[in-house]
Amino acid sequence: MNDVSEGIVLSSMDYREKDTLISVLTKEFGRLSFVAKGTMSINSKNAPACLPYTSSEFCFDYREGKTVFPLKTAKIKNSRRQVREDLDLLSFAGLLCELTEKCTEQGAVSDEIYQTLESALNHLQYDKYLSVSLYLAFVMRTLGIDPVVDECVLCGSTKVSTISIKEGGFVCPVCRPHVQAQSNTLDDLVHFRLLNKASFEHFDVLKSKMTTTFEDVSMMMKFLCHHGALRVRSWDWIVSLMD
Ligand SMILES: [Zn+2]
Repeated sequence: MNDVSEGIVLSSMDYREKDTLISVLTKEFGRLSFVAKGTMSINSKNAPACLPYTSSEFCFDYREGKTVFPLKTAKIKNSRRQVREDLDLLSFAGLLCELTEKCTEQGAVSDEIYQTLESALNHLQYDKYLSVSLYLAFVMRTLGIDPVVDECVLCGSTKVSTISIKEGGFVCPVCRPHVQAQSNTLDDLVHFRLLNKASFEHFDVLKSKMTTTFEDVSMMMKFLCHHGALRVRSWDWIVSLMD
């Protein structure tokens, strides 16, 4: 009774009159859904803590084997106001949360996923492209589809010249004519390698040493969507905004 867990609100949808159904990545119980009663009415005390991308403390009665629970109360820990006030940051927060929803099982607990998503959301305001790229690299490692960035994925040569999404990583000039590959600059390769190897503990060093671009994020998203067989709606939205 009255179990309490910290959690990050991944998404929210209307559910019956004045209620919402929220998807939350909880620290203690993994990804769960809560029916948040009355959160659509103006004087709801729980509503601010149930907004997407907010970290809050959720009180409910946990029962093993269930993944949807009536929410008792929710208290804000981090509202992420800076993210909420910037359409760009909001779109990227949506991307991080949609990916988390797509790549986690309901009720499966992972402290690593929880901490990494928390870091990614907290770092968005300092460098959104770097923060998103580091999260994408983490997701690819978690899914076991991270690209080969130390050598040619086909022959093992360390003289690489391009990235092949289809082949799964770097390709050398000798193998290149035989594969579908992008046309990449040396900078593209260096960024792709560093971003895929790094994690949030390297955020400040990377931020001071390089400018991560939308193209870097785009390359990693293409890689993730191809090898993870994912369709990510919030990414389609971001791409349409950039056009
Ligand atoms: Zn090769």
